[in-house]
Amino acid sequence: MADHPRFGPAGVPPAFRFMKATLLDVPELLCGEGLDAFEYEAVHWGKKPQVKRELAERFGFEAQENDVWLSLHGSYFINLCGERGIIEASKQRLSACATAAEWMNAHVVVFHPGFYGKKPKREAFKLCLEAMREVVETMRALGIKNAKLGPETMGRLYQLGSLDEILNLCEMVEQTQLVIDWSHLHARDRGRFSTIDDYRKVLVDIEDRLGTEVIKNIHCHFTKIEFTENGERCHHTLEERHFGPDFRILAKVIAEFRLNPVIISESPLLDIDAMRMRDILQEEWSKN
Ligand SMILES: [Zn+2]
Repeated sequence: MADHPRFGPAGVPPAFRFMKATLLDVPELLCGEGLDAFEYEAVHWGKKPQVKRELAERFGFEAQENDVWLSLHGSYFINLCGERGIIEASKQRLSACATAAEWMNAHVVVFHPGFYGKKPKREAFKLCLEAMREVVETMRALGIKNAKLGPETMGRLYQLGSLDEILNLCEMVEQTQLVIDWSHLHARDRGRFSTIDDYRKVLVDIEDRLGTEVIKNIHCHFTKIEFTENGERCHHTLEERHFGPDFRILAKVIAEFRLNPVIISESPLLDIDAMRMRDILQEEWSKN
């Protein structure tokens, strides 16, 4: 359980790469910026972990030493509601991500559940539910106890991943962790968040369905986002005033509810915007 609000980037920040930092340097560099979370990007992985076990374990150790909370973003090549062969391959990819997450002691494997395709939404959901349960069984057989599966709310209307669907999956599958991508919800509903009540409603809904413990420690993604009638188009930085949603309003609600979320910046300015969000929350927290 996260013990206080935590912030960090989705992947290695460009400045770190420019400094020729290795993966093992990342936790200390984040700590130096006053950040305390990191989402490892396994987004192009296939059916096997694409990191060596020894490196993953050393990375997990460095993260712990520097008090950096780890999560892992699973492969983009996952579709748990596609055709049979696609589902089987997707399950293997998700299990590979969970295996590596356990090596590095990452708390959650964030993933995009899949696409409706031509299927009715209910049918797509059922396939996804079955596949997730099977992955959890595999994880148990592999001895993966700490890492949880984190289905994420999705920004495009053709993707499975409305708030209701994700809450259902978290209610119906064991070893799951809710992942709220606020920007995706904003884009999916074409501008959902403009007032403090818009955010409150979502949090109250989550609390009603999954309980107080879950709401206290939600795993979040945040960035500004551009959308069309089909939902998400692209991500923007926090400074770009024309785009929403506004992080400060979410920060007010986090401070009001005294939550301890993990907030991952998916902005093009990964760590810079993570620090900006941390500072905004600190301001709002001290007002309450
Ligand atoms: Zn994602």
